Amino acid sequence: MKYQSTKTYGNDRGLSCCFRQWKADSHCNLIHGYSLGFRFVFEADELDERNWVYDFGNCKWIKEYLESMFDHTLVIASDDPLMADFENLHEQDGCKLLVMDGVGCEKFAQYVYHYISARIENESGGRVNLKSVECFEHGSNSAIYYGWLRGVYIMKISEKIKAALDNGYLANDTIYEAISDTDREELIEEVKEAFQGVLDALVIDTKNDHNTQDTAKRVAKMFVNEIFRGRYYPPPSVTAFPNAKQYDQIYMSGPITINSTCAHHFQPISGNAYVGIFPGQKVIGLSKFNRMVDWVASRPQIQEEMTEQIADMIQEETEAKGVAVIVKAEHFCMTARGVKEHESDMLTSVVRGIFREQPTIKAEFFSLLNNMKGIR
Ligand SMILES: [Zn+2]
Repeated sequence: MKYQSTKTYGNDRGLSCCFRQWKADSHCNLIHGYSLGFRFVFEADELDERNWVYDFGNCKWIKEYLESMFDHTLVIASDDPLMADFENLHEQDGCKLLVMDGVGCEKFAQYVYHYISARIENESGGRVNLKSVECFEHGSNSAIYYGWLRGVYIMKISEKIKAALDNGYLANDTIYEAISDTDREELIEEVKEAFQGVLDALVIDTKNDHNTQDTAKRVAKMFVNEIFRGRYYPPPSVTAFPNAKQYDQIYMSGPITINSTCAHHFQPISGNAYVGIFPGQKVIGLSKFNRMVDWVASRPQIQEEMTEQIADMIQEETEAKGVAVIVKAEHFCMTARGVKEHESDMLTSVVRGIFREQPTIKAEFFSLLNNMKGIR
C-alpha cells in the first residue's frame, strides 16, 4: 500500500516562460509564452513521524528551482536553427536564455522530474519517491512525466548524477562529489550497455565472437575505474608539512609519468610531467606530485588544459610562491592515425607566481629542467 501527497504551483504563480517548437508546422513555431504551473505527486510506503508523505515546509528549494528555470526565461531547443540569434539576444540582456535538448510541457516536466526526484530521494533517505510531475500551460493543457513505469525505475544513473551537479560536467571536469560508491557501480552498468551499442553499431557479432564477448563490460570498468578515474573518484589526500628550514630555492620533480586520453579522439596521450616548486610556508612529499598529476591526467583531456589543471592543483595544495609545470607527451591521435607523425611530441609549460614575475628564477628553472631525465 502506498501513500501519495500532491503539491501544486499553479499558473497564478507567475512563472512566465517563453519558448517555441521550431519544428512545428503550426504557429507553435513562433515564440509564445505561458505562466507555467507544476503539480508534483509524492509517494511513500511509510509516513514520517508527523504522518506526512513529504513535509511541504521543506519545499522552498522546489519553488526556487522552478523560478530559476521558468521565471522570465526563454527556453530554446539545443538544435534550434536560430540559436545564434537567441544567444546574441541573451548576451545583450534581451532575454534570459535557457537551452534544453527539447522544449514544451512534456520536456519541462521531465527536466523538473529529474532534478527534484534526485533531491527528494536523497533528502528522505530513499523513503519518498517523486511519482510524477505535471506541467500546465493553462487550465486545459498539461503534460505529465512519470519516473516510475509499472514499478520499474527508468531514470538512468547518469541523469541522476547530472541533476545533482551544480557545476558543469565537461570531459576534464571532476564530478566525484556527486557520485557515491553504489552510483559508480550503476554507472559502469550504464556505460557497459551504451558501449555494447557501439560494438553492435560497428557490426561486431559479440555474442559469437570469443574476443569481444565481455569487451563492453571491460571497457566500462576501465573508463570509470581506471583511465577516467580523475572524474569519478576523489582527489588523492595530500598532507603538507611546515617548511621548517625555510628552504627558499627551487626544487624539481620529474619525470612523472603521464597517461591521459585525448578528449578529441579518445586516444592515449603518453609522456612525462616535470614540476618545479618555489616553496612558501608548506612542503609536501615528493610522491604526492605523482598522485596529483595522475588524478588530473585520468580524464579525457587536451594537453594545454591538463597542464593548467595540474598547476592549479599543485598551487592549491602547496601554497607555493611559484609553481612551474612542463608536460612533454606523445599523442596517439597524431602518431597512430591522421598524419602518422611518429617522432612528434607536444610540449606545454605553465609557470605561475615567482617563476613568472622574476626572469632570473624562470631562467634557473629552465636550466635545471634541461638536466632532468628524459627532457631532451
Ligand atoms: Zn586527439
